[in-house]
Amino acid sequence: MTEAVSVKKLTHFINGELVEGKSNNYSKVYNPTTGEVIAEVPIATAEETREAIAAAKAAFPAWRDLSVAKRAEVLMRFRFLLTENMDQLLDIICTESGKTLEDARGEVTRALESVDLAIGAPHLVKGEYSVNVGGQINAYSAKYPLGVVAAISPFNFPIMVPLAQTSMAVAVGNAVILKASEKVPMTSLFVSELWKKAGLPDGIWTVVNGSKDAVNELLENPTVQAISFVGSTPVAKYIYETGSKYGKRVTALGGGKNNMVVMPDADLEQVANAFIGAAYGAASQRCMAISTIMPVGEETADRLVAILKEKISNLKVGSYKEEGTDFGPVISKESKENILKAIDLAERQGATVVVDGRELDIVKNSEGFFVGPTLLDNITKEMEIFDEEVFGPARNVVRVNSLSEAIDFINGQDLANGVTIFTNDGAAARKFTTEIDVGMVGVNVPIPIPVGYHNFAGFKGSRFGEGHMFGPDQARFFTKTKTVSERWPDTTETTASTFAFPSNN
Ligand code: NAD
Repeated sequence: MTEAVSVKKLTHFINGELVEGKSNNYSKVYNPTTGEVIAEVPIATAEETREAIAAAKAAFPAWRDLSVAKRAEVLMRFRFLLTENMDQLLDIICTESGKTLEDARGEVTRALESVDLAIGAPHLVKGEYSVNVGGQINAYSAKYPLGVVAAISPFNFPIMVPLAQTSMAVAVGNAVILKASEKVPMTSLFVSELWKKAGLPDGIWTVVNGSKDAVNELLENPTVQAISFVGSTPVAKYIYETGSKYGKRVTALGGGKNNMVVMPDADLEQVANAFIGAAYGAASQRCMAISTIMPVGEETADRLVAILKEKISNLKVGSYKEEGTDFGPVISKESKENILKAIDLAERQGATVVVDGRELDIVKNSEGFFVGPTLLDNITKEMEIFDEEVFGPARNVVRVNSLSEAIDFINGQDLANGVTIFTNDGAAARKFTTEIDVGMVGVNVPIPIPVGYHNFAGFKGSRFGEGHMFGPDQARFFTKTKTVSERWPDTTETTASTFAFPSNN
């Protein structure tokens, strides 16, 4: 591994300032395309995290009390700055994540949707009002911000997920602390500067870099009212259980194992193109990446695998700087090793390797963390790769005999993030969407994530807690409803004490 000549020392972003870490404990940030260390990110202690929480708490009341329109104005300026600084933003995202430019641009577009939705927050937090619920009494229910809230984000979407987790939280009047992924911290620090330029008051958006110690402080600290987590399933479960134990509102999204069912009547050429983009885009490092293709019937499977073999063998793996690159590296050396091990294990357990991503020159000889596109056929339920998330370009073919068998297989899995069916048969599609027990469902759509205005989340091991990411649920998650009964009697009247339970007559 080559160490870069100049390694940037990164900071936190606390109370409106880039603040140096005090712990002297740093984690390396890599350029996954070259394998070089490009920066060092400070790992916050519990004490530093407490200080950040205290600053957020102090900033909260003034932001809460600002008019909703003034808060929306800040978000509008922030949105403008994101687009104005797009080139720099894309460069940072590609450098620290290895994504292609086109993919990073798509990610930023999705991030902007979350900001757009949050700009409309005044509409989403409108309350309810009733007059004369009792003698001279009016009542209203209104949504109030929670106070200090936290978001903990994964590496694979350096901007889309953090902004999906935080834009609405800020817009509805909370002070937000983001614990960004220590693997891609530079994007969040850059975004922090844009928030500041947009006029967001100090302390309302904070980035605490680090790992377990910072997260545990956020989970346990009584000032923090809600936790929004996105990451792997074991950590999501831990976050949900611990945060709930400390009395917080928690939504924790986990990993995915996403299946694509292919009916015999589907156009296999179209299916193959849809599968390849959705399965291998971003080196398969998407929670909604298709992990498994499930052709129904042997004949469909044989035809489909032949088409896939040819197309997948022609994919171009490389740097985001090279023209025509389909996907780049995975995030780290450890991740690369884990993916290669998962392929080896599947092969030992009886999988047929149709396309072997271990054999590419770039995989064997580059310092970057590349894994080639791999297709494994004849995967069965008994193999580990059947239901374990592999966060890299090793994809499965599971052959099934009927739609019912496909549904049973999928419903038997713990990870239930996304699923899709390709067919021209409306009845088959209807049976599938009705019976499938998965959060995000597609029909002839390979990655069923609609626009950022819709709620998004999986079921079972892919989500702990009831909330959603994106969508109007964000406005509900980051507010609490207070119901006020008001009476302004005529001061000349004297009211006698009432001992009966108040009724509306
Ligand atoms: P991760 O779980 O390793 O890390 C996520 C966050 O949790 C990071 O900020 C990390 O620092 C922190 N963390 C890690 N271990 C921790 C621990 N033991 N205690 C406290 N905090 C800890 O996930 P990742 O590798 O960064 O991201 C990839 C995973 O995220 C995949 O499983 C992917 O499917 C999932 N993901 C899910 C969604 C979704 O919407 N469901 C979206 C994006 C990514």
